Amino acid sequence: MDCLFCKIIAGEVPSTKVYEDDMVYAFKDISPVAPVHYLIIPKEHISGASEINEANSKYVAHIFEVAARIAKSEGFENGFRIVTNCGEDAGQTVHHLHFHLLAGKKMGWSADSAV
Ligand code: AMP
Ligand code: ZN
Repeated sequence: MDCLFCKIIAGEVPSTKVYEDDMVYAFKDISPVAPVHYLIIPKEHISGASEINEANSKYVAHIFEVAARIAKSEGFENGFRIVTNCGEDAGQTVHHLHFHLLAGKKMGWSADSAV
């Protein structure tokens, strides 16, 4: 399958790993929009949030556990944000489910800007 994030998981495309276990992989976003900008992805190919179902939602729960663990270990004591873009209107560019983990700055709140 021609999926960039599947290739990153397989090590065929380089990335800067921040966390990995048997279910998920987390790495630095190549084009950060905040001082901390990680992507957390399931090791199973799921095309986006619209494809989450009873069989694969365990990945989502685990991704949030991992995000909390990273936030504690890296000391995001002032807070963090988790964002997923799904589909064209939301600007999804990579069609493998991913959660942006953003931290390190005071963020505004708008549907047109994640940071
Ligand atoms: P989205 O626009 O929500 O689909 O997010 C895709 C994200 O993947 C963007 O923030 C990109 O900067 C990031 N991205 C694209 N290619 C790479 C790559 N090779 N390594 C790390 N991050 C990437
Ligand atoms: Zn994939």
